[in-house]
Amino acid sequence: MERIVFLDRDGTINEEVHYLYRPEDLHILPGVPQALALLKEAGYRLVVVTNQAGVARGYYTEEDVKRLHTYMNGILRESGADIDRFYYCPHHPSHGIGVYKKSCSCRKPATGMFQLAEREFGVDKAHSFMIGDKLLDIRAGKNYGLTSILVGTGYGRELHEEDMKTGAEQIYDCYADDLLEAAKWIVTLSRHE
Ligand SMILES: [Mg+2]
Ligand SMILES: [Zn+2]
Repeated sequence: MERIVFLDRDGTINEEVHYLYRPEDLHILPGVPQALALLKEAGYRLVVVTNQAGVARGYYTEEDVKRLHTYMNGILRESGADIDRFYYCPHHPSHGIGVYKKSCSCRKPATGMFQLAEREFGVDKAHSFMIGDKLLDIRAGKNYGLTSILVGTGYGRELHEEDMKTGAEQIYDCYADDLLEAAKWIVTLSRHE
């Protein structure tokens, strides 16, 4: 079994761009290469789990998604550490076209993509994590039984500030300003075990 850090993509690793698929629109967020390197050095496998409803809506193709991931990993490999595996959900329950219109089991907050990783690597759930910038990421991580971290990049900061203001119960286990802070939190936690 592997210790895995599951990562949302848009707003967590790269700048949130509406329906991103063109390599020229990809901007890796500050501190991300260092964060990934830190996690890899600590023995974690890195797995991206990303909802890509743009495929379902016909805005871009699965080939575009794969091409972007290859391109992204080239950049990450040179600057820090690369992603071990990318999983994406190309479906949407109501806005999908053709075969992509589907109430699937992979679209977060469902856990299908986590289960694919489980089949491929085996997941040491007690020592694995989910990191994302939306509550659906946190819900997905929680549904699968992982410690889940909300990052302040993408939509996360706004969500967190709203929770602080209203005193709503936080469903995430930790809030970190960005991926580097989240990585440091994980590494510190695993050192103390
Ligand atoms: Mg996101
Ligand atoms: Zn799906």
